[in-house]
Formats: sequence, C-alpha cells, structure tokens
Amino acid sequence: MMRVPAFQYYRAPSVRDAVAALRDGGAEAMLLAGGTDVVPNLKRRQQNPALLIGIGHLPELRQTTNGAGLTLGACLRLADVADDPRVRAHYPGLAIAAGKVATPQLRNMGTLGGNLCLDTRCNYYNQSYEWRQAIDFCMKAPASTGGQACTSPDGTGICWVATSSPRCWAVSSTDTAPALIALGARVTLASADGRRTIPLEDLYANDGMAYLTKRRDEMVTAVHLEPGDRSWRSTYRKLRRRGSFDFPVLSVAAAVRFGKESAVEEARIVLGAVASWPVLVPESASLVGKPLTDDAIEAFAEQASQLAKPLDNTDFALGWRKKMARAYVSGALKELRGDAVRRP
Ligand SMILES: Cc1cc2nc3c(=O)[nH]c(=O)nc-3n(C[C@H](O)[C@H](O)[C@H](O)COP(=O)(O)OP(=O)(O)OC[C@H]3O[C@@H](n4cnc5c(N)ncnc54)[C@H](O)[C@@H]3O)c2cc1C
Ligand code: SF4
Repeated sequence: MMRVPAFQYYRAPSVRDAVAALRDGGAEAMLLAGGTDVVPNLKRRQQNPALLIGIGHLPELRQTTNGAGLTLGACLRLADVADDPRVRAHYPGLAIAAGKVATPQLRNMGTLGGNLCLDTRCNYYNQSYEWRQAIDFCMKAPASTGGQACTSPDGTGICWVATSSPRCWAVSSTDTAPALIALGARVTLASADGRRTIPLEDLYANDGMAYLTKRRDEMVTAVHLEPGDRSWRSTYRKLRRRGSFDFPVLSVAAAVRFGKESAVEEARIVLGAVASWPVLVPESASLVGKPLTDDAIEAFAEQASQLAKPLDNTDFALGWRKKMARAYVSGALKELRGDAVRRP
C-alpha cells in the first residue's frame, strides 16, 4: 500500500489566511482543495510539501453568482458545476466537460480550481516512486529532488519521451480548461498582495514543468463567464481509453456564435491533452463570416489537427490520435451546426 508522507495540515479560516499561509510557506506549502490530484501525487512522492493548506470548505470559494454572466467559485465541486441548470442551459460545453472528469466519486470531491491547476501527466511520471527510481527518474521530477516535481530543469534528469529534449513534454490533461477557454472565461487570482483577473488561456504555459504562469503564492478564487447568449453554442468531446472514466488523450472544446443566415460571428476551438497547455486554435477566426458548410468544417479540421502533435507519453498510438483530432474537431462543429451526429 502506498502511504502519504508526513505533513502539517492547516485548515484556512478564510481566503486571506490561505494566501498568507501560502506566502509564508514558500516552496514548502501547497493548496489542498478536493485532494484528488494532490493525494495520489503525495503517495507517489511526486509532491512532498511540508504544509498543506485546506481551502475546499471555504464558503467564498463555493459560491455561484449570477450577475453580468456567471461567476463560479474555485472550490465548487465538479459534480455541482456539471449539474447546475444555468451551466447546462448556457454553457453546455462546460457541463459536458465537468461531467466527464473521472468518476462520480471523484467529481463529488474534485473542484473546479483543482481541475484548472491539475499537474501535467506523462507515462514516465505518473508511476510509483519505485518505478520511477528504477529508471533514475526524469527531468520533471529528478533524482536530485528525491523524485519530486520541480518547475525548471536542474540539468540532471533527462526526458525519456525525447531524450535530447531540453524541456519536459508532460501533457495538460484537465477537462474543464479547454471548455472554459473556448467559452472565453476569465479567472481571478488572489495573493497576499491583492487580486487580479486574467483570461484563462493566460494561466497556462506550454511547458510540462512550469505549466502555470501564476505565481506560487497565488490561488484561483473564481472563474467568470460572459453572459450566456442564446446565439452561442458550445460542446466538448473527449477521447479516452475507457468510456466510464479516464483522463483525456485528446479533447476538443468548441464554442461558436451564429448570426444571420447561420453565418458564424465568433468561434473559439480549443484542443486539450495534445500539448503541455490547452491549445486555442488560432485559425478559429477563419470560420467567421460564413456558414459552417462541410467544406469549411473539413478545411478547418485539417488545419486544427496540424496543431495536435501528440508524443508517445500517454495512451493509444500516436498516428491514430492525430487522425482522431481531425475527426473530433469535425464532429464537434457539425454538432454545433445542428447535425444529428452521434456523440462519442
Ligand atoms: C482515478 C482518477 C481519474 C481522474 N480522471 C480525470 C479526468 O478524466 N479528467 C481530469 O481533468 N482530471 C481527472 N482526475 C484528476 C482530478 O480528480 C481532477 O482534476 C480534480 O478536478 C482535481 O481537483 P481537486 O480539487 O481534487 O484538486 P487538488 O488535488 O486539491 O489540487 C490539484 C492541484 O491544484 C492546486 N489547487 C487546488 N485548488 C487550487 C486553487 N483554488 N488555486 C490554485 N491552485 C489550486 C493544488 O495545490 C494542486 O496542485 C482524475 C483523478 C483520479 C485519481
Ligand atoms: S515528458 Fe519527459 S521530463 Fe516530462 S514527465 Fe515525461 S519523461 Fe519526464
């Protein structure tokens, strides 16, 4: 049986206390929301903080507020997000994505903020301590740190996926981030210095080690969505080994706003689990100004699939995953157009 290492636990009485503890704890402190990512990582000794700061119970972080758009607290459980009637009605892509994370038990524990900050994944990293020790660890969690994840290479570990690579290619595997980026969401970050709100896509960097751009002493407090307008449609498609539960090996989040005569007025398509960050397809703008014809969809799907450069560090054969990127983008856009397509 794998056991968690010893740590101190601080149940923060407020966000203010949580960020103060995060600042004071420095590199030794970590936030604990639902714990469904942190606890397995502790057991595998990928993370070994001296102090865990509990935030999952804080009422401020568990609220949904409806004003100019919808604001979702960072510690809302994924099950609550997936079942919220306002999310289901106006942001179906998010409801689908949240409802496809892991299992019902994990969605009842796991939070939205924890999902957005989920550690990147790799076949050589998500293994027990002994397994990783047997291959002398790797760049993301090298022997010099005792196999613990660090945020920049220390020059001692190599990347087993691309042995001459100077960077780590671990994969962004969060389900809700692509859906929220497609919907143009923003996030508020709090620290002892105050709060700031940024577009969600700016929270991520394409680096398997330093995959978040936020400072270590900042926490996500809320996610903001623009008012749900009936002319926006959104969806989310996820490829995984087991339909019942599994991390994505590819996901496609699509949000499209239609105008007169079904012409596209805005479009945001995001690929998940194909890089160390969610990939907002820059060519999404090329869909604007015309209806989603078969030709337009297929041309776009081909372009988008070029951005999916899967490496051999998750499940399934590489070439097949790349092919599926094209099929999934095409299927998502046809679904938004109103075709009676079968959801995978
Ligand atoms: C068997 C299994 C299957 C899974 N399948 C999936 C899946 O299909 N899709 C998927 O996306 N995930 C999956 N997960 C991962 C995990 O369950 C979810 O991502 C979950 O949403 C994580 O949320 P949490 O609250 O439990 O995060 P925690 O474990 O509490 O935290 C995760 C990380 O985020 C940080 N953090 C937490 N809250 C905040 C905050 N407010 N601000 C800043 N940092 C924060 C923590 O310090 C930690 O680094 C799976 C996990 C398991 C064990
Ligand atoms: S991509 Fe390379 S460095 Fe990163 S976790 Fe995998 S093996 Fe380690």
